[in-house]
Amino acid sequence: MASSAQPPKSGVRVIVVGAGFAGLTAAIECHRKGHDVLILESFPELKILGDIISFAPNSGRIFQRWPGVDAQLDPIIHKSDGLLIKTYLGETLTKQIWDAEGLAYGKAYNGHRGEIHEIVYHHALDIGIDIRLGYKVDDYFETEDEAGVVANGERFVGDVVLAADGVRSKGRTIVLGYEDKPKSSGYAIYRTWFDSARLAEDPDTAWMVTNGDRHCAWLGPDIHFIAASIKNGKDFSWVCTHKDEADIEESWQAHAPLADALKVLEGWDPVVLKILKATPDPLIDWKLVYREPLPTWISPKRRIALIGDAAHPFLPTSIQGASQAMEDGATLGVCLTRGGKTHVQEAVAAFEALRYERVRAAQKTGEKTRDTWHKVDWKEAKKDPESIKLKRGSWLLNFDAEEYAEENYSRTVALLHDPVAVRALHRPNAIK
Ligand SMILES: Cc1cc2nc3c(=O)[nH]c(=O)nc-3n(C[C@H](O)[C@H](O)[C@H](O)COP(=O)(O)OP(=O)(O)OC[C@H]3O[C@@H](n4cnc5c(N)ncnc54)[C@H](O)[C@@H]3O)c2cc1C
Repeated sequence: MASSAQPPKSGVRVIVVGAGFAGLTAAIECHRKGHDVLILESFPELKILGDIISFAPNSGRIFQRWPGVDAQLDPIIHKSDGLLIKTYLGETLTKQIWDAEGLAYGKAYNGHRGEIHEIVYHHALDIGIDIRLGYKVDDYFETEDEAGVVANGERFVGDVVLAADGVRSKGRTIVLGYEDKPKSSGYAIYRTWFDSARLAEDPDTAWMVTNGDRHCAWLGPDIHFIAASIKNGKDFSWVCTHKDEADIEESWQAHAPLADALKVLEGWDPVVLKILKATPDPLIDWKLVYREPLPTWISPKRRIALIGDAAHPFLPTSIQGASQAMEDGATLGVCLTRGGKTHVQEAVAAFEALRYERVRAAQKTGEKTRDTWHKVDWKEAKKDPESIKLKRGSWLLNFDAEEYAEENYSRTVALLHDPVAVRALHRPNAIK
């Protein structure tokens, strides 16, 4: 499936702001199509940050198109047959089988965010993408003919700018015409990643880390706890989503004492409490930011597009944030090729039209699962265990963003004069 053949140069100059998964994917996909790409990233150096992240089959197929990437990712990803779902007291409710999804839709890649990011980042460098670290973009501008940014006092000009600058995006201001501040979602997540050796020593927790990987969710009132082992049980990660009204600072480096999580999980399944006992102190405490869906992701002159979390932050219960960020990049690669240098604005508008309703539908799955998981009617859940499984289906997972954009580009462009109709055209069938 992977091919390293380089198409002829298109002459389209793409500036990407941010080297997260949205920015890197857009850059790699644009490079694959022969566009000239420059990435500006504010981090001064690459760091292995974060913990567990999930890429479902709809983005797994994008990794698979990048020569050598699957072979590097395969040894470091989580491999279990499914997600065991339990009550907070430890009673098993059901098991959602991943194998069935994998066979039907393709390979998923779940692993350490920093480790996966490092592989993708180096792939981008290896294929010759110009990535400049330590470039913080402060300003965006556009005319009918060009778009650009200012970073570290330097001006960079291209045909199109892709603002992949995450949940606190600066690119939003030029797109929306006002500064859009994130709000608290009312939830925060304790998170951690550590070596599983201590868990292997205790018979009550050893099942999670021996004889392969395991994945288990415990559901409680307005709280859920998910644990996974990775690399054949060697590494271990857990996340605990809980109520939190404190503030809206979202940082991957803010810490909380383990004691805070112990308090929140008091009285839970002894297995959960033993996992906590084996967890190094402190935890990451990630405040979950919420944003209303944006009315648009593209600038007035249609030369700047928001992509990834900058356009559409996801709740973790969707397990789709990173996948949808990657789909944006694959779609843009196609749109900019089909539009070419003379029709960049049309390509940018088509990108938004192709993606908007699908992303919204994917976001809603996360809201639905969060609400279901935090307000479980235990009697009903036991009668109908299907009701508490993650809301995933063929429309979401068995989707090839590149192929979809190729097949639908022309009719999307033909309908751009009618914004409501063109978005409705791409509302997923399951939702229509
Ligand atoms: C350090 C870090 C750790 C994370 N860890 C996890 C995790 O463990 N699990 C998980 O599910 N998700 C994690 N995420 C979020 C996850 O990567 C995203 O939700 C998802 O992959 C979508 O990616 P994105 O590229 O849109 O946004 P991000 O991954 O947030 O990437 C945005 C990038 O833009 C850069 N940037 C921001 N502002 C500017 C600017 N003005 N100029 C230049 N560059 C700028 C940022 O430094 C960052 O590299 C993490 C994100 C970050 C930044």
